[in-house]
Amino acid sequence: MEHLIPDVMERVSFAELVEQLSDGVYLMDRNRRIAFWNRAAEEITGFTREEVVGRHCANNILMHVDEQGRCLCRGQCPAATTMKEGIRHESEIFLHHKDGHRIPVWVKTSPIFDADGRVIGATEVFGDLSPKLHLAAKVAELEHLAMLDPLTELPNRRHLEGLLEARAHELDRFGWPFGVLMIDVDYFKLVNDTFGHPVGDRVLRMTARTLGSCVRAFDVVGRWGGEEFLALISRSSAEETTRIAERLRAMVAGSQLEVDGKIVKVTVSVGAACANRDHPASDVLVRADAKLYEAKSSGRNKVVC
Ligand code: GH3
Ligand code: MG
Ligand code: MG
Repeated sequence: MEHLIPDVMERVSFAELVEQLSDGVYLMDRNRRIAFWNRAAEEITGFTREEVVGRHCANNILMHVDEQGRCLCRGQCPAATTMKEGIRHESEIFLHHKDGHRIPVWVKTSPIFDADGRVIGATEVFGDLSPKLHLAAKVAELEHLAMLDPLTELPNRRHLEGLLEARAHELDRFGWPFGVLMIDVDYFKLVNDTFGHPVGDRVLRMTARTLGSCVRAFDVVGRWGGEEFLALISRSSAEETTRIAERLRAMVAGSQLEVDGKIVKVTVSVGAACANRDHPASDVLVRADAKLYEAKSSGRNKVVC
């Protein structure tokens, strides 16, 4: 244990560490000659270290400009200011990419001192502020949101329809059978009427969580609409589909919520149908719906296959 700190310090040099950063890092001497240029600096600017190390940064490389397009290399260069004043600086500027375009970056410059306290150079750390970076993350987030039901955080109907199509395609192509469960909460209107809509929402979330966590890893449960859920049971025989439907029904019946000292619980009715070589995928939803109707009319809290 005692030797751990010196050991790790010996194994990894700071230069190696800096190579792993996603921020650009470079070092320059007092004459603003670039002495070190990390991998992220290469990625952000397009300039390789061979192209910049040993050159002056003012030498048509980065050509920093401010928001008005004023060149900073002669006057307000962040590194020159840092070295002159001997203090850290932060700014947002634009640098020149090797391909010619401008990139907005944040820049943090710090002076480097020698043993006598004289400034001998500076470090500059910088990062890309291009909106395109944020845009990529935004698109991924929107895609994700577009597929989820906000209340239950389960896949929404649109997502389920896509997955159903994929299952139908697999049946067609590889002969993999699958099951569909139409799941409807019993007397849910009564829950709303008795406890209010917000409690109704909590009951829906509880039911969604129970359903979502009681299917197999490769099955999917989503919200079909209102108080109806749909489960897609992959590569499953009629027997397996029935078994899973029965398990879901029992797990929901065993879930409960406490509201103002009162227990609130619901049951579900389930209509199950299978798509396989003998029963086409095209009408599997209609068949599941018909079975759900049977489950409702024969007493509810039931599975009908
Ligand atoms: P059944 O056993 O026949 O299915 O009876 P039910 O009361 O469950 O069926 P009904 O279709 O009459 O009522 C469904 C209710 O679900 C009506 C609607 O207001 C309620 N509901 C639909 N979506 C939501 C929701 O997001 N939140 C809440 N709280 N209620 C919802
Ligand atoms: Mg309904
Ligand atoms: Mg209902």
